[in-house]
Amino acid sequence: MRKTLYIIGLSTLVFSCTSQKNTNKNIYRTKTAVSQPKTAVNSDSQEKIKPQVTKEHGVEFFTANIADITKNDNTASYGSIVSAKPAGYKVVKTHFPAIAQNFRQKYLILHYTVLPDDKSVQVLTQQSVSAHYLVNNLGDNEIYQLVDENKRSYHAGISAWRADKNLNDTSIGIEIVNMGYTADATGAKTFQPFSDEQIKKVAALAKDIVTRYQIPATNVLAHSDIAPTRKQDPGPLFPWKKLYDEYQIGMWYDEAAKQTLLTTAQTDISTKYNDAAFIYTIQMALQKFGYALDSSGKWDDATKKTIEALQYHFRPQNYNGIMDAETWAILQALNQKYPTK
Ligand SMILES: [Zn+2]
Repeated sequence: MRKTLYIIGLSTLVFSCTSQKNTNKNIYRTKTAVSQPKTAVNSDSQEKIKPQVTKEHGVEFFTANIADITKNDNTASYGSIVSAKPAGYKVVKTHFPAIAQNFRQKYLILHYTVLPDDKSVQVLTQQSVSAHYLVNNLGDNEIYQLVDENKRSYHAGISAWRADKNLNDTSIGIEIVNMGYTADATGAKTFQPFSDEQIKKVAALAKDIVTRYQIPATNVLAHSDIAPTRKQDPGPLFPWKKLYDEYQIGMWYDEAAKQTLLTTAQTDISTKYNDAAFIYTIQMALQKFGYALDSSGKWDDATKKTIEALQYHFRPQNYNGIMDAETWAILQALNQKYPTK
């Protein structure tokens, strides 16, 4: 599928090159008055080289594409084939990229499909849900791209994290083929494990995406993190710690910080568990970390599901949705390490 998309991209490029050949070049002036690089001193007293500029009508333009990672901390440029083609005019973009730009993609959201491979492809391409990428479980080296990264895919639904809502607008979605969970008569869930090959694919893909878009660790999330009352995916068997340890992807708490917080957390849980003020404190801590949750001062269903989402991600050994000392210590350790800006 990647190969196909590459060919589409290439043919678009060939088409645009061909159409430029037919343009009347006389309407464009030859650029003149190229100035030499100048230096400027910024507020941190670090010297920065000003890129070469050309002057037209008294306005300076950069002579080379400066929208790259070394010139703009927010933009890792891979170029773009998406551009206007107004009839009778030529859109000139090679030398005019603005420094003031970044990518719209701020989040990476991981899911499981609850469908086998073939059905996953069918549903995610033919129905009202989709994702940018689909990672199969076939043991091959293919990753399917279903939606252009510059376009929205419909994977997140009603969702929120920290100050952001409706994360389809600002995220890349990866669906992983996995059957999810089965629940017994008591409601206890048993999840299906992921294969190592599949996790390696997901990690390589995620690494590529977070690097190119410079997605911060706090914005690499489970569907259950951004919609905790509705979703469980990718569930407690998704190896977030492995991704953090081996690929430097996403968040994980410091073990030492957790241990330090554990004693007080144990006292809190054993002495204040049903105090409304304590429940408020927990709810505020969950909100501070990023979860969308109302503060009711009660162990309500939304709070339990949010705790369960936190446990899926950061304390997968026990995900019963009950705030215990270890979960409380982990939540506080996460808030210490990843404070809201
Ligand atoms: Zn999902």
